[in-house]
Amino acid sequence: MISLKDVTILTGIVDEERISTEKSELFCYSRDLGNSIPDELLKAYGMLGPDVVILPENTEEISAILSYAYENDIPVTTRGGGSWALGGALPMDGGIVIDMGKLNEIKTVNKGDGYVTVGAGLTWKRLMDNLVSHGLMVGAHPSSSVSATIGGFLATGGGAGTGVPQYGTVGDQVLSLTVVRADGNVIRTDPWSSWLFVGSEGTLGIITEATLKVFTLQKLQHYLFYFDSIESGTDVLQKLSEIRPYQLSFLDRGFLYLLNQAGEHCLVKELAVAVSISGSPEELKLKSEKIEKICAAGQQQPDYVARDEYENRFRIGLVFKCLGPSLFVQEIRVPLRFIGKVVKDISTLLKGYTWGIESLGSDTGSIVLSVMILGDEREEIEYLRTFSLSANFGALAAKYCGTVYGIGLHNAVAMRGIHHEGLDRMREMRLTLDKRNILNSGKTTYPRIPVLFVAMFMFMMKTVPFLVRFMLDTMKYVPIGLLRFGLSIVGGKIK
Ligand SMILES: Cc1cc2nc3c(=O)[nH]c(=O)nc-3n(C[C@H](O)[C@H](O)[C@H](O)COP(=O)(O)OP(=O)(O)OC[C@H]3O[C@@H](n4cnc5c(N)ncnc54)[C@H](O)[C@@H]3O)c2cc1C
Repeated sequence: MISLKDVTILTGIVDEERISTEKSELFCYSRDLGNSIPDELLKAYGMLGPDVVILPENTEEISAILSYAYENDIPVTTRGGGSWALGGALPMDGGIVIDMGKLNEIKTVNKGDGYVTVGAGLTWKRLMDNLVSHGLMVGAHPSSSVSATIGGFLATGGGAGTGVPQYGTVGDQVLSLTVVRADGNVIRTDPWSSWLFVGSEGTLGIITEATLKVFTLQKLQHYLFYFDSIESGTDVLQKLSEIRPYQLSFLDRGFLYLLNQAGEHCLVKELAVAVSISGSPEELKLKSEKIEKICAAGQQQPDYVARDEYENRFRIGLVFKCLGPSLFVQEIRVPLRFIGKVVKDISTLLKGYTWGIESLGSDTGSIVLSVMILGDEREEIEYLRTFSLSANFGALAAKYCGTVYGIGLHNAVAMRGIHHEGLDRMREMRLTLDKRNILNSGKTTYPRIPVLFVAMFMFMMKTVPFLVRFMLDTMKYVPIGLLRFGLSIVGGKIK
């Protein structure tokens, strides 16, 4: 809990109107776009929520805020667009939330040398729209580009999205980053040292500025094929990935059905495979011939339908949320060669649920599946049962040499399984750069929630949700300090 004196000092760093302790405002910053987490469950995780929200305008202000926070042991959580959907930007240990939204300047567009320098709080969509007027484009961008920030995509690793299969992940696009370290020191990285911060989820420093590669705007060509069986559709995915398309994705029958239910017009077949290519006219011709050959067993849709599917990429993911009204999303990254089996296993696991799969092309022969399960958080018992599926998805990904996609709060307990001894290196790195563990504490490198506790809770949610509901209701009356103390005894690391 930070004091009034702290708030007064922070108000000396940024203008008064860019700092808030307003209750309603703090509430908004204790949620993100992700799966609705019941209030009581957040409490069971030991989350304190923010004490103060600050909207700095530049690197210098962020440096001054962090110097003060570091000296006074105040936790700091960075927030971009809040679209990570895994609770990564939620302040577990209270303290300061830094909203990056005002660092949204496009500082340099250098067409000759092919780079841009931008504020980390700029959204990808705004950057891309601006670049079009210069005849340029970015290498990779997420399908959440309307709200996702440059810094957020970098901090979450940007391993899947449009452009990734052809140009590589977002880390491959970086020429330099400006980063404020936990103690307030400002550093500038080169392309190699930048990798330290790519995917570090706000635990090693706050990215305030990025210099990224840009490319001459290319002509895009889009294809959409429907397949009558999962096997015939998924077989083509691996072959398509070998031609390094600009975008590669598929939608399953469940997803197509839900799109229709939400008023979108599309055919409902077993699988829709969408592929986009970019390049010179000669490259396009060569790649088109290969695509048509690979997808010969599918039913090709007219050009305008394929283009529509691509142009809708920013909205399609959440279009049927209204049918829920809650949407529970689980993301896993699996090698393309296992897709058929993975989809079958998901069907078995989700028998009785209403769900669909959307996918995001990744690099290196893998693909990220976003499994969208409809639910209703007001039906508390059933929703808890749905929530418990997180554990099954982790296990399913591991069975096929994959991992959950993204860590945040939800998957923090899976860190050891994903990184093995790499997790120890990450912890060492954190100790070097942030000895006091103030940045995004309680998640990722040192998860607040003990692994054992989560495993036990997930199991109970599935088998005896009534009991879990009762426990959560009882927890309402337990002081949060006592709960956090309890968690630390079960195995969590509380400061
Ligand atoms: C509909 C939809 C589509 C999506 N599509 C994709 C996709 O194609 N590819 C993909 O990879 N993901 C995708 N996502 C997930 C998410 O949108 C992206 O990971 C996005 O890049 C997160 O950016 P953000 O600004 O919203 O970050 P936030 O959610 O605000 O933050 C995410 C994490 O990064 C940290 N962080 C944020 N900004 C900074 C910074 N400047 N410096 C240091 N740390 C920071 C936060 O502390 C937090 O841990 C999608 C999500 C949705 C809802």
